[in-house]
Parts: sequence; C-alpha cells; structure tokens
Amino acid sequence: TAVKANPLIELHREAVNFYHRVLLSTKAGERGMQYAEKRKLDQDTLEHFQIGYAPKQDNLLLTYLRGKKFDDDLLAKSGLFVQSKDGRLFDRFRDRLMFPLANENGQVIGFSGRRISDDKTEAKYMNSPETEIFTKSKVLFHFAEAKKAAREEGHLVLYEGYMDVISAYKAGVKSGIASMGTSLTDQQVYMLRRVTSEIIINYDGDDPGVHAEERAARMFEKAGGFKLGIVVLPEKLDPDEYVKKFGAEKYQKEIQGALSPIDFFLQRIAKKFNLNNDREKVTFLDEAVKEIARVSNPVEQDLYLEKLAREQNVSKDSLKANLLRERRRQN
Ligand code: ATP
Ligand code: MN
Ligand code: MN
Ligand code: MN
Repeated sequence: TAVKANPLIELHREAVNFYHRVLLSTKAGERGMQYAEKRKLDQDTLEHFQIGYAPKQDNLLLTYLRGKKFDDDLLAKSGLFVQSKDGRLFDRFRDRLMFPLANENGQVIGFSGRRISDDKTEAKYMNSPETEIFTKSKVLFHFAEAKKAAREEGHLVLYEGYMDVISAYKAGVKSGIASMGTSLTDQQVYMLRRVTSEIIINYDGDDPGVHAEERAARMFEKAGGFKLGIVVLPEKLDPDEYVKKFGAEKYQKEIQGALSPIDFFLQRIAKKFNLNNDREKVTFLDEAVKEIARVSNPVEQDLYLEKLAREQNVSKDSLKANLLRERRRQN
C-alpha cells in the first residue's frame, strides 16, 4: 500500500514549481531574472537548484495554491504565508530570489529568499519559519544531491552560503552543502557523519568566515572519526566571488590544496605572534605544541613536530620534550 504523502510536502512541491515558473517565464519574474543574470546564474543552474522568484506585488502564491485546492489551515501551517490578526493570509516572501531547501530525501520543506532590492533595512536572506516539516538546525542546503556526488568526489564540501554551493557546483565541485549561515549544529555534524568521513570546510575568506571554520573544525574533531580539510581563500573572498574572479580551474586547485586541521590551526596561531621576537616565538612554539598534542595518531604527530622544528629552526627533541609534558597535562 502506498504511503500517503505529507500534504505540506505536496504543497511545497507546488510552491517550488510556481516560483520557478514565475522566474523563468512570466512578466512578474523579469526582475528576478535580471538579478539571476547579474549573479551569473545560467539556465542549467536555475534548473538544478530549482531556483525561483517570489513576486513583489499581490498574493500570487496564495491564489495559486488555493486554486490547487489546498485549504487555508494547511496554507497557514506551511510557513509560506503571514497571517493578519483577523486570520487573513498574505504571501510571506516578496521580491526575493527563492532557494528551495530540501530534506535528506530531496523533498522541499522550506525556502530561503535572497533580497533583490538594495534596501539594506530588509534582511539579505529570509528563511521559512520553523514548521512541522522544517527544522532549521537539521537542514543542509543541497544535501540530498551532494550525497550522490560525494560517492565520486570522495568528500563533501561545506560552505557558508547558498550562492557558494551554487558557484562551486558550476565550477565542477558538486558535493557542496551549506548550513544556514555560519552556525553549524551538532545535528548537522551527525547527519554528515552518516554519509562521509571526509569533509572539506570552505567558508568565506573574511574574518568571520575563518573564525567559523575554527569553530566547525573543533566540532568535527569533537564528534570524532572525520578526516578534515580546510580551505582559506585569499583576499577575504567567498567561494562564489573567488570562482567569478579566478575561474573554475583555480578554484578546484584550492579544494585540492585544502589544509590539514593542524596546518590550519598552526597558521592561525602563527598570525598572532611576531616570530622575529624570541619571547613571542617561544610562546608561539608552546601554543603550537599544544595543538600538535591534540593529534591522536603518533606518526602524524611526529611528522608535524618534525615540520615545526624545521620551519622554526629549533630542535625536534626540545619540542618533543614539551609535547610529552603537554600530553601528561591533557590526560
Ligand atoms: P550573497 O552572495 O548573496 O551576498 P552570502 O552567502 O555571501 O550571500 P554571507 O553574508 O556571506 O552571504 O552569509 C552567509 C550565509 O549566511 C548566507 O548564505 C545565509 O545562509 C546566511 N545569512 C546571511 N545573512 C542572513 C540574514 N540576514 N538572515 C538569515 N541568514 C542570513
Ligand atoms: Mn560571510
Ligand atoms: Mn559570503
Ligand atoms: Mn557571497
């Protein structure tokens, strides 16, 4: 016997089609299309991600879904409408480029809408509110598709923004996913663990982005069992901007050249110190050794000690002595 589909999922399927069609083939969608072109979104990309446009005027989604015989109780529960005090419904998303958000099975359960106007008083991105089917902390943009690509690419790539996933996809990195903003959750880490043990983190190259990479890397470390790579893009660029500026090939090289967590953290620590000053250098080496002490594989640990000793022109034995002391302290 067939399982009856969740009506909220049916409703979202219709909403995806509606927004997508508005964008591709209506007068009301021309504004959206202009913006899509400005962001260099081509036809294939709009199709793959089922991107749409929520019109500025009227309540076109409301009218459309009522026409499809969805009742107002269900519409009110969908999150796609706001309700006035007297119970009337209005389209929630207006004049936004619409990114469908799907669950692990690829069923759309909500949206994020990108502001098109220059009005900075409006939020840049607006998400569906929490509903029966949409729990923000458990959603990863493009996850269902990325899972398939991960089998070929051998890893998943974690981004900050939807546009980053989309530009990476166009640049040939098809296993991209995004948490909703910079705050990765434990649930999302858990979802990822069931799919792959290899994660590449590629947040924005600006300070908040790199900071969030540190936090994400610690979360994966704590969860255990992951092999991590971390990409820090130059010039504070985000992946979308990087691909547009330097092209697909160079971007793929950035992914291939992802840093190991230890190299990433050592670089971050080194930035805090003036290594020409002996006292600062000693503090740096202490912190660096603490970081290396966290590595559980002894061969790997030895490799990093060797490298640090060579790069900083100190003896490996002295670093090793510090490391043993540090290990005793950590246990
Ligand atoms: P764009 O390229 O469209 O300007 P972005 O992805 O580069 O967007 P960031 O400012 O880097 O935007 O933010 C990263 C992510 O954080 C966004 O993709 C979005 O998921 C989330 N985000 C940003 N601003 C908001 C907001 N005002 N409300 C909710 N989420 C937001
Ligand atoms: Mn950012
Ligand atoms: Mn960004
Ligand atoms: Mn961006």
